[in-house]
Amino acid sequence: MQAEAVPSYKMFVGGAWVDSHSGRNYPVFDPAAGRVLAHIPKGDAEDVNAAVDSAKKAFEDPAWRHIDPSKRGRVLYKIALTLREKLGEFAKLETLNNGKPLGQAKGDVAQSARHFEYFAGMADKIQGSTIPVPGNRFDYTVKEPLGVTAHVVPWNYPLAMAARSIAPALAAGNTVVAKPASFTPLTLLKFAELCKEAGLPDGAFNVLTGGGEEVGGALAKHRDVKLVALTGSVETGVQVAHGAASSLARTVLELGGKNPVVVFADSDLDKAAEGVLNGIFTNAGQMCWAGSRLLVEAGVKEPLMERLVRGAVAMKLGSGLLPDTKMGPLVAGSQREKVSGYVELGLKEGAKLSTGGSAPDDDGLREGYFYRPTILDNVEQDMRVAREEIFGPVLTVTSFEEEDEAVLKANDTDFGLWAGVWTRDLSRAHRMAERLEAGIITVNEEPVTFPQTPFGGFKWSGNSSEQGLDAISSYVRVKNVSVKLD
Ligand code: NAD
Repeated sequence: MQAEAVPSYKMFVGGAWVDSHSGRNYPVFDPAAGRVLAHIPKGDAEDVNAAVDSAKKAFEDPAWRHIDPSKRGRVLYKIALTLREKLGEFAKLETLNNGKPLGQAKGDVAQSARHFEYFAGMADKIQGSTIPVPGNRFDYTVKEPLGVTAHVVPWNYPLAMAARSIAPALAAGNTVVAKPASFTPLTLLKFAELCKEAGLPDGAFNVLTGGGEEVGGALAKHRDVKLVALTGSVETGVQVAHGAASSLARTVLELGGKNPVVVFADSDLDKAAEGVLNGIFTNAGQMCWAGSRLLVEAGVKEPLMERLVRGAVAMKLGSGLLPDTKMGPLVAGSQREKVSGYVELGLKEGAKLSTGGSAPDDDGLREGYFYRPTILDNVEQDMRVAREEIFGPVLTVTSFEEEDEAVLKANDTDFGLWAGVWTRDLSRAHRMAERLEAGIITVNEEPVTFPQTPFGGFKWSGNSSEQGLDAISSYVRVKNVSVKLD
């Protein structure tokens, strides 16, 4: 039997499909089967120069620069509409390349469309103000696009994380160069095709593939890039910030998390258990805002743990394309090694394994990068598994006796992205929301977000917010105009 041919992709620059100038390629994988899915161009600084040049030309072209902003909004809306029409195709490709269950991939594509719908409506509402000043003067502000913006994207939500920052950048009139994560470039490349069909002018949206340092690093340092939006790890965030500082470019950094979920004794334990499980095992735990640190009031630890272990054991692992799969593989073998290394470390540090802690060896799972849903009990605050982002299906469990202790433990982290609270006491819910140091708080639910609600982290988790009305301010500059009237 002849092996199926592996397709080769190209990058999207200036409205055309191009190879990397060096001609180099690299393979990307189907993580559920460990097989090569496609060959992808390996871009570098020369490709970055070409893409930024084309984005700069498109930015300066009156066809985009002076387009009726309502029409710009309509182009974005058309992108959203077409994405919804092709939701199934995009979701299948996301599942193949990332491994996530198809239902979750469909949710991601719908979320990507929602980002474009939300910001499509904002394109003709980016307006300045008039300011009362002394004397016979008329003073007003104008909000202008920045120019070329770069978008460096992670592999856990390959399309949705790209859409989240690209939609406001385009709505504000910027032009874009995007770099998907090396593991998962396929949906963003397909999206480029869709943007062209929807009427984005050539050069307004470019996609470069390749390594983090070679492409992302070169984009961050490029003198003509006016903003770098990175969703990624803290380490990469620091490097990107250094690179961007060399040309005083703005940064929008959405980074990692080590997020507490606090369950009080008065909560509905069935609902809390379900929420905790979804909060850590969705997307195989590869989520910046995964509720990875359970803090449970000592009095209900035992009944909650029973429910959690039962739920984790019942979770069906498999290819994301199979209808009954609840958890797919990790994105890559290297990621699975990292996760299993942390679990071993946690056990050495004194944690107790309640369930999981290994890769399955069953038929259909052996070849992929699967790892069982894992719960580590008796975790102390000073253990590395309680302090470092594992970024996989691993929940740590720590108990507390009363509210102040819960707050201390929840905030005892370098990160500050998300925090969850489970309680039936309304006053305590609001008090906790005020006391927890995180950019996003959810009460009595697993982590939720919408395009209209701000998403951003405190402390090491980032330096700004995406989504919501205010997100657009990152993507515009403000000009003040003072007119002396005789
Ligand atoms: P990563 O930092 O390794 O990579 C993110 C992107 O940056 C990729 O495109 C990568 O190629 C690129 N990159 C790597 N090194 C670079 C460099 N030196 N200069 C410029 N670009 C570089 O992160 P990842 O492993 O893809 O994603 C996981 C991380 O992303 C986790 O820490 C997770 O918490 C975080 N994340 C945060 C959010 C959020 O909204 N806060 C959302 C999703 C993921």
